[in-house]
Amino acid sequence: MSSRRAIIIGAGIGGLCAALALRKVGYSVQIFERAPEVTALPTGLALWSNAMFALTVLGVGEEVLRLGSVIDITRSQTADGSVLSDVHIGLIGKKLGVPTVCIHRADLHQILVAAVGRESIQTAMPCTGFVQDGRQVIALFENGTTMRADLLVGADGYRSVVRRQLFPNEEARYSGYTCYRSVVSLVHRALPPGTALTALGHGSEFGLFPCGMGRVYWFATRNQPASIKDSSIGRKGDCLAAFAGFSEPFVQVLHATPDAAIVRHDVYDRPSLPSWSQGRVTMLGDACHPMTPNLGQGACMAIEDAVVLAHALRDEPDCERALHQYEQIRRERTALIASRSYYLGKILTMEDGVLSWFRDRLMNTKLGEVQTESILEKILSYQVPVL
Ligand SMILES: Cc1cc2nc3c(=O)[nH]c(=O)nc-3n(C[C@H](O)[C@H](O)[C@H](O)COP(=O)(O)OP(=O)(O)OC[C@H]3O[C@@H](n4cnc5c(N)ncnc54)[C@H](O)[C@@H]3O)c2cc1C
Repeated sequence: MSSRRAIIIGAGIGGLCAALALRKVGYSVQIFERAPEVTALPTGLALWSNAMFALTVLGVGEEVLRLGSVIDITRSQTADGSVLSDVHIGLIGKKLGVPTVCIHRADLHQILVAAVGRESIQTAMPCTGFVQDGRQVIALFENGTTMRADLLVGADGYRSVVRRQLFPNEEARYSGYTCYRSVVSLVHRALPPGTALTALGHGSEFGLFPCGMGRVYWFATRNQPASIKDSSIGRKGDCLAAFAGFSEPFVQVLHATPDAAIVRHDVYDRPSLPSWSQGRVTMLGDACHPMTPNLGQGACMAIEDAVVLAHALRDEPDCERALHQYEQIRRERTALIASRSYYLGKILTMEDGVLSWFRDRLMNTKLGEVQTESILEKILSYQVPVL
């Protein structure tokens, strides 16, 4: 068994999955997390078939399936409740042999932390950068500590310090919308088991996904300039005002959610990078390809990255060459999905009444449904290598 050591920066979904994957190929792994506790946002997460396959390779697929909700249909509506289309995700899942699941992020984190082992995660350890020579890499931490390893993986998310060191002048791109999210316990006839519901307004979108144990994950986007603060009526008040025209289950979900349980983020992505690695240092997940959430694939890509990275390192003893191979395999897929997600976001958040009328009419045809299913199947059918 190899005694190669890996340092992972960040205990998000990507970092935790990287730890599981690298261990499977013989690395001893230590994760360093900036926050004082390993926590997850109190929201939900769609794990499409492609990510569920990768989680099964990592040995946690069954547990995710047990705690989450399988999604069979995503139904799109207009804001006032007219059905536009039903996309049969369950049929795609059956064809691929792996379902799509929505889960509470805290549940997913708990599963991943338990699988990695709490003793392998050091919290309150903000990384500030790294130095390396041909033989080793040294991670530098805010408290003056340094750690040596054979490999450093930057899984430190959208504001990655690893990325900043490798690409100091690179800018984020604002999507044009902010996103409110939460999870609430709710039973509603418009949400039978296995059904996720999204509604499109003018410059806004609202989604409801069952996420296990009688809970519903909701997200709602509205177009506005970046960095606008919540108004004096509070976040819930802002949501009730902005989404007042949406049909009953959506408004009911807002009423059922306490103000303090609603999180809000302005949505950004970043341009795709020409490379992700330097020597013994690489990145995965939002650190190297943050994307808008419209395809719900950001975390799914981080999970896939983790397995592909470990597979490349398993088969190629030279670290630098293995990292190059990993990038070669991942760059095109992640860039394509990031770009599709960005433009899908533009379509879903259209403000113009005439254009959004045409969008809705197109979605409301058999051709629209078939095309959506075919695009999704291409994304979902990707299978990472088995470790
Ligand atoms: C509104 C919205 C909805 C979304 N919905 C979905 C969805 O349904 N499905 C999906 O697949 N994706 C979704 N995503 C995307 C998904 O949330 C991200 O892609 C995913 O969380 C990225 O995981 P990560 O591990 O790469 O980064 P992160 O989750 O950002 O984790 C990074 C970790 O690194 C730590 N860290 C940061 N800096 C340092 C440092 N200097 N030193 C040490 N630690 C550090 C952070 O504290 C954090 O724990 C959504 C995103 C948004 C904004």
